[in-house]
This record gives sequence, structure tokens and C-alpha cells, in this order.
Amino acid sequence: MSETIQWFQYKPGLVGEAQRVTHCARHTIGDRIRSWCRREFDAVTVEVAAEPGATPSPGQVAPCGPCVPCLLLATAAIEHSAAQPSARVTLADEHA
Ligand SMILES: [Zn+2]
Repeated sequence: MSETIQWFQYKPGLVGEAQRVTHCARHTIGDRIRSWCRREFDAVTVEVAAEPGATPSPGQVAPCGPCVPCLLLATAAIEHSAAQPSARVTLADEHA
């Protein structure tokens, strides 16, 4: 994948498990991370996660459930910039 997508989530213990979804970073401004779902996070409160469904690489933690708006918007953005039909197929299968 040529596009670098940064997935992140709240570190354990900071919020309830139900709120620990894996977001996709759209912009990073200083120590603020803005996600595709238009929320803003403090960099110190989050940890880098693997892409939902993927095996974590070194330096990444296992992802929680994906933030649906982030997943859809980020996936659409990737497909727009670099056509990756396989991503859409995978997504559709998981939600069937
Ligand atoms: Zn999100």
C-alpha cells in the first residue's frame, strides 16, 4: 500500500472499552490528532494501532473495533487516490 494510513485508539484505561474504537488519523497538528470522523485527540492519550483486521506490526497494538465513519471515509479516500478494489470487497464481506 502506497498510502500511509495511521490508525490509533485511546490507550487502555483512559476511557470505557465501549469508546475504545480504532480511528484513522487525517491530520496531525502539533500534538493534536484529527480523525476522519472529525474528532480531535491529544497525541499522548492514544496509541498506534494496526489497521483493523490486520496483524499488528512492531510498534503497533492490536486494534479495537474500527470507528465506522473513519473506516468508510479513509477507505473511500484511499480508493480515490489509488484504486484498491480489494479493500472494498473485504469491507463488504465483513459487514455482510
Ligand atoms: Zn473515528
